[in-house]
Amino acid sequence: MAHTDVAIIGGGPAGSTTGSFLRKYGNDLSVLILERDAFPRDHVGESQLPAISRILDEIGCWDKVEAANFPIKVGATYKWGRTEELWDFDFYPLDLFHNEPRPGRYEGQRKSLAFQVDRAIYDKILLDHARELGCEVRETTRVVRILRQGDRVEGLELDTGEVIQARFYVDGSGHAGILRRAMNVSVEHPTNLQNIAIWEYWRNAEWAEEIGVGATRVQVISVRNGWIWFIPLGPDRTSVGLIVPAAYYKAVGKRPAELYEQALQEDARLAGLMRNAMPEGNLQTTKDWSFLAGRHSGENWFLEGESSGFADPILAAGLTITHASAREAAFTILEMDRGADPAWLRAAYDRRQSTRITNHIRFADYWYSANAQFTELQDHTAQIARDNGLNLDPARAWAWLAQGGFIDEELGAGAAGFALPLLKDLGSYLGEVREDNPVYTKNIFRLDLENADVEVRPLYENGKVSRCESYVREERRLPVRFPYDFWLHELRSAPDIDVLKQKLKAYLLRFADPKERSARYLALMPALEAMIVDGWVQASYEEDKPCFAEQFRYAMIHPHSVV
Ligand SMILES: Cc1cc2nc3c(=O)[nH]c(=O)nc-3n(C[C@H](O)[C@H](O)[C@H](O)COP(=O)(O)OP(=O)(O)OC[C@H]3O[C@@H](n4cnc5c(N)ncnc54)[C@H](O)[C@@H]3O)c2cc1C
Repeated sequence: MAHTDVAIIGGGPAGSTTGSFLRKYGNDLSVLILERDAFPRDHVGESQLPAISRILDEIGCWDKVEAANFPIKVGATYKWGRTEELWDFDFYPLDLFHNEPRPGRYEGQRKSLAFQVDRAIYDKILLDHARELGCEVRETTRVVRILRQGDRVEGLELDTGEVIQARFYVDGSGHAGILRRAMNVSVEHPTNLQNIAIWEYWRNAEWAEEIGVGATRVQVISVRNGWIWFIPLGPDRTSVGLIVPAAYYKAVGKRPAELYEQALQEDARLAGLMRNAMPEGNLQTTKDWSFLAGRHSGENWFLEGESSGFADPILAAGLTITHASAREAAFTILEMDRGADPAWLRAAYDRRQSTRITNHIRFADYWYSANAQFTELQDHTAQIARDNGLNLDPARAWAWLAQGGFIDEELGAGAAGFALPLLKDLGSYLGEVREDNPVYTKNIFRLDLENADVEVRPLYENGKVSRCESYVREERRLPVRFPYDFWLHELRSAPDIDVLKQKLKAYLLRFADPKERSARYLALMPALEAMIVDGWVQASYEEDKPCFAEQFRYAMIHPHSVV
């Protein structure tokens, strides 16, 4: 019998991400990853969202993924619903996009962009990385039985007959959900999401678009009875899949290959892209993927990634939720290992994982049921955002959801920004001076916390889970942390604008590096805008007083220059 601190079932993105985080932030923990297959192995689910890159960077793996030269995903092109019109959505404004040599670095525009990955290569990079950080990885090792006592897992029996005992167990076994099933966790099946997928990999399909060096948009194309994904995975390998309702598949009585070939011919643009393409000859199908686990943790175990739930391929959010849950499961284990309150930690993990998957399911459900126009979809996402405490206009709500902002929605504020991490990343252009931006057109800023309650939310940072206070009023949330805490502190005394400028300058001068000053400034100003729009700050204008101005921004970042 072998003993380890943490035993992880499955070496997919969930398992390897958790393993890497456990080793990165908790060097003393022994981590064993048990993987049924030998890597590399193919896997569906290739199109990513930008939020993943932040996690890859945090575990120190972004450069390795970049070195594999996967296409950069700048966004998606949709042909959807009742029109033939093509609708582009970009993670980053293309007029600001500039060509950069590859391999690039995780900075500048790349922080807002994503990858389209060949999972055979990607999953192996991640698993090797976990190994390099000190995880013991056993491939071709299947967990065949979970030994349990009540809600505790007591051990994992392997196909070799060996039993592994651990202090914590993690189910990263994907759709198999071996531990989830063994612990009799109930699952919900959302009614509208019953589709089947049929897909194949192709050689030599043309990319629909080439943007700069190695960048493109994935194509989402509706056909008569379903939709097609078209995801280039490299210079000459493309994943092309068809999704159709399970009911249609049953009723029409055709073989998957027939349905697939027919659908590919239906869209002239797609047929053009695939004119010279050759299939690899391994058509695959899957179904019954939409579910939500009734809970995501037990006494000494966690479900993460696809073992804890999945909505649908639409929106390409599966891997984003997978990586995010894997990170938070690792931080939760580390915090429990330090002796923090397990009930609070587990409740936080469960709630967040449930919310993420539910948000995605709600969106996908609407997407299919309405077959809607984009404006209607955007209105719907605004409602989802509102239910998550974010007051965003429809276009921004769509951007929030489509970029994966919903994976960490709880500690952001305001209509002006997105969730906090995105707010930081996007600060450089959200923070531009706009004529209607009250930050630059008003000059009296008064804090208004009247009738606000204070609630405590978990904050997952640097391998720790801490309690972060937030002000809450009418579904608006204001976390007491950077960048909002600066304004919370300084605006309490309702200072004159000149005093405020001095305070801001003094604060920024505490950071010697101009890049750091710039980043902080670019986070602080949109944060003030968010606080104004959400009513936490009342802004007004008084004649004969100055406002914040663009020159001021320059002076803040280059304080020794003469403006
Ligand atoms: C049709 C379809 C299309 C999708 N498209 C996208 C997309 O475009 N973008 C996106 O982000 N997501 C997409 N997804 C979702 C994405 O595939 C998943 O979110 C992701 O693969 C989940 O990662 P994971 O690590 O949880 O599970 P997996 O990647 O499935 O890894 C689980 C691992 O566990 C191993 N394992 C299983 N059982 C055992 C056992 N008993 N013992 C040991 N090892 C075991 C398996 O071999 C596997 O390697 C799609 C999903 C489907 C179904």
